[in-house]
Amino acid sequence: MRFAGLQKTSLIDYPDRVATVLFTSGCNLRCPYCHNGELVHNYTGPFIEEDEVLETLVERKQYVDSVVVTGGEPTIHAELPVFLARLKENGFNVKLDTNGFNPDTLRDCLLFVDYIAMDVKTSPEKYSELGASSLEPLFESIEVIKTSGVDYEFRCTAVPGFVETETINEIGELVKGAKRFIFQQFRPEKTLDPVYNDVKPHQDEYISKLGEIMDCFVDEVVLKI
Ligand code: SF4
Repeated sequence: MRFAGLQKTSLIDYPDRVATVLFTSGCNLRCPYCHNGELVHNYTGPFIEEDEVLETLVERKQYVDSVVVTGGEPTIHAELPVFLARLKENGFNVKLDTNGFNPDTLRDCLLFVDYIAMDVKTSPEKYSELGASSLEPLFESIEVIKTSGVDYEFRCTAVPGFVETETINEIGELVKGAKRFIFQQFRPEKTLDPVYNDVKPHQDEYISKLGEIMDCFVDEVVLKI
């Protein structure tokens, strides 16, 4: 496996831990508001090879013993479970970020992760605008995660037009009974579709309202606004 980027230290990507973040390239969705356009679309390098990544991680393990694998979309890479197994063999805490559109690879990763963050981005009918051709993989991943025994969160960037009070119940139905749901504020910067650079984010109070509605569906709602 190879990676498009490595951020040595992050205080915000792994709950309650300092972590190194690894970025994979490519994605099976095309969210118009994506901030990682350069990773998602025709990324041609430079790459860092898996062995070099592991060497860097092990060298620094006394300072940072947690790793986040994010993208792009990590699960489009068939080698992902083997790489995560190598992280666990070396004693790291591992968090995986995913959009949930590859449940088979996700299932193969479960033994080798300590935490999963899965995006639940919008109501079912709007997912086609993010590039999804079928919702079955999303539904399956939600169940895989809820029943996995691995700690997890579902998370949602509150993008105007995709996440509104009128449709938040439909998102709630998707994750009903989940332990944790996170709302993140949308930042209109360097978006895949430049139109979204000019979209005004929801006000914080509005996102609080979304959180109150979501509270009826899940055990815990966290607002990162
Ligand atoms: S926001 Fe995430 S799922 Fe959407 S295109 Fe970007 S990397 Fe892919």
